[in-house]
Amino acid sequence: MSTRPNSPAAKDIAYSLHPYTNARRHEETGPLIIERGKGVHVYDDQGKDYIEGMGGLWCVALGFGEERLVKAATEQMQRLPYYHSFAQKSHEPSIELSERLLDMAPGDMSKVFYANSGSEANDTVVKLVWYYNNALGRPNKKKIISRIKGYHGVTVASASLTGLPTNHRDFDLPIDRILHTACPHHYHNAFPGESEEEFASRMAGQLEEMILREGPDTIAAFIGEPVMGAGGVIVPPKTYWDKIQRVCRKYDILLIADEVICGFGRTGEMFGSDTYAIEPDIMVVSKQITSAYMPLSAVLINDAVYQGVADNSAKISTFGHGFTASGHPVATAVALENLKILEERKIVDHVTKVAPRLQNGLRQFADHPLVGEVRGVGLVAAVELVADKDKRSLFDPVGRVGFHLYDTAQKNGLILRNVGDSLAFCPPLIISEEEIDTLLERFGQALDETYSWST
Ligand code: PLP
Repeated sequence: MSTRPNSPAAKDIAYSLHPYTNARRHEETGPLIIERGKGVHVYDDQGKDYIEGMGGLWCVALGFGEERLVKAATEQMQRLPYYHSFAQKSHEPSIELSERLLDMAPGDMSKVFYANSGSEANDTVVKLVWYYNNALGRPNKKKIISRIKGYHGVTVASASLTGLPTNHRDFDLPIDRILHTACPHHYHNAFPGESEEEFASRMAGQLEEMILREGPDTIAAFIGEPVMGAGGVIVPPKTYWDKIQRVCRKYDILLIADEVICGFGRTGEMFGSDTYAIEPDIMVVSKQITSAYMPLSAVLINDAVYQGVADNSAKISTFGHGFTASGHPVATAVALENLKILEERKIVDHVTKVAPRLQNGLRQFADHPLVGEVRGVGLVAAVELVADKDKRSLFDPVGRVGFHLYDTAQKNGLILRNVGDSLAFCPPLIISEEEIDTLLERFGQALDETYSWST
């Protein structure tokens, strides 16, 4: 007699440890099993339809079921399913993709290094920054400044860059040489009456104070997402990036733009760096690069960084870093096709056209008794719930009401993500205005139901 579980849900509980999941809650309630997707919709194993209001995990730019991506993957699988790029090997899809990325990227990027996830790419960045400064004979210039609520991944180094307690607590992180400066969230962190510009100056001032306190000769780099994503969709206050960049340049500090969410049209331009006039020395992309049909990430570096790394690789005989699947041919072939479609279908123009429908639609909830702030740009947004609108005070415990709204929205056919009490929106870039209206309707319904539950 077999004692093995026999339903997919029971097997999932029995055999899987899920990422970002309360394992005990999962044992009780089990998974939501998603079976298929089409456009902005996914369907569960009972046939129920959901609008994927988060594009999966901020990534399915072209929506589900894009046949051209399937074809690109299949053809590449048939021609050359795998090859690597160690020891001077290469293949056409990764060569072509590098050329295309460098053409698209803001500023003057020189080379592309491939990895498989945003975390791996940011780990690579930490190592590149250290390697580069060793190459330049600056062994003390190694500290990297990130921000509270910044999100850069979960590997040991990238989780250290991440500025969220859940990614540090009980993991014995962050590692040394990683510092966190203030979160530029005007709504919560500005003084009463402080304008966005004044607040941005204060944020840049705090960064400069940290650099001076630590010693500019010890600070190698500053990393930030143009718009903070997983920390709660925090849009930078006016003039913020301009002021931060000036501080970095003043002290010879590399500027790293983590475009893992913003890249490829999310903010209404090709990159978040375009939206905020950021000129990074290093840029990290992933997610929408393949619409997440295949795992892929890329680190773009400018020529100064490349020259340092190249010299050192010659000196010590190799650049001793790389992944088995760096520049994987199927992933890079899918990325190329994905970027072709983005351009052919003018997806970035589409984002500019439909974004006001989402942003204005969500702002109509600003008067709702539960809503404190509605924020966003392009097709990324958040609605933050607060206990007291006037005092902007948080619920205690943080996240309980947010989770209820997330759960209720899901029951109403809308998949979102709650970051504490902020509900994040990041739908596929192909979403239509009619689909945005349906999304808003389902959200409004869930918000009202959550309000009734909370009072
Ligand atoms: N950087 C940013 C800005 C992200 O949003 C994420 C993931 O959400 C990462 C890095 C980490 O990417 P991954 O989950 O692919 O490791």
